[in-house]
Amino acid sequence: MNETRRALITGITGQDGGHLTELLHEKGYEVFGLIRGQRNARKEALEAEFPYVNIIEADLTDQTSLIQAMLTSQPHEVYNLGAISHVGYSFRNPQLTADITAKGVLNLLEAVRVTGMADTARVYQASTSEMFGGLDYNRPGAGYNEESLFHPRSPYGVAKLYAHWIARNYRESYGMFVATGILFNHEGERRGLEFVTRKITNAVAAIHLGQQDHVTLGDLWPKRDWGYAGDYVRGMWQMLQHDQPDDFVLATGETHSIEEFLTLAFGQVGIDDWRPYVKQDPEFMRPAEVDILLGDPSKAERVLGWRREVDFPGLVKRMVDHDIALLSGRAQPRVAER
Ligand code: GDP
Repeated sequence: MNETRRALITGITGQDGGHLTELLHEKGYEVFGLIRGQRNARKEALEAEFPYVNIIEADLTDQTSLIQAMLTSQPHEVYNLGAISHVGYSFRNPQLTADITAKGVLNLLEAVRVTGMADTARVYQASTSEMFGGLDYNRPGAGYNEESLFHPRSPYGVAKLYAHWIARNYRESYGMFVATGILFNHEGERRGLEFVTRKITNAVAAIHLGQQDHVTLGDLWPKRDWGYAGDYVRGMWQMLQHDQPDDFVLATGETHSIEEFLTLAFGQVGIDDWRPYVKQDPEFMRPAEVDILLGDPSKAERVLGWRREVDFPGLVKRMVDHDIALLSGRAQPRVAER
């Protein structure tokens, strides 16, 4: 009989960590998850939602704890999803973002290397479309692909660019299997409330149920290539099954403004004109904005056979439906929502 496959996930309490845990468990993996900090508030929720996960206490800024995590889990696959991942937060906490989102990746790669596990453990690094920055000169008409220029516009994007290159460097320097996924925004019912899509669908549900009368947002013109997170974690897994480590863009190939998202989300509850329900406040605007993101996923489609299954209207609908169920007490919050 084949040995059970073991996967180690950093950032297991986040949105993608939840989707990936479900996927790997369905595929028969033994799943190990890193949890950070003393009395992490999400630990209990994680145990309740995924009782089969082996929890390891470790921190991306603590090399020794990562080495210990490698020795304990002896993983075949390592998914590095742990990061300070919110652009707005990264402007307010740039050093912490660098320590975790950038240097944390180096710590993790070193843990794989010095424990001698580089021959058996394949590593996935969560890169991001925020590395592109959305500037005109930098934007090919058909969308960003793996060859496009980087020009990050936030401490988060800059930290992720270091992470991306150190991941590639370990692949080239030590022959390690390190794949990077340059993922465009991906959303869903596990998305944290600090991201604009979930903030909107949560507010739409609350307004529909009479629990709230408006939502306060920042700029509404930026455009994003928004996909469904469940589709994207399948792509991560496919990257580690491929015969060689590589870099892949995952995106939908469509871009929509926040105004379009608002129109579809409010439309779900029968509200045609969302303007009376939306206020704006500079608090939610950024020192530097990424105007438009559009990705070209053709390499992942061609090489990995990756396909997204949920389209833009389908994404908005499932998020609004979930939030109505949640706020009317018919559903439980997931780990990442707490
Ligand atoms: P990002 O693309 O990784 O920064 O994902 P977000 O969901 O945080 O933001 C997407 C876009 O929505 C950005 O252009 C934000 O400036 C814009 N935005 C407008 N209002 C808000 C808001 O209230 N919260 C957040 N998070 N973003 C907002």
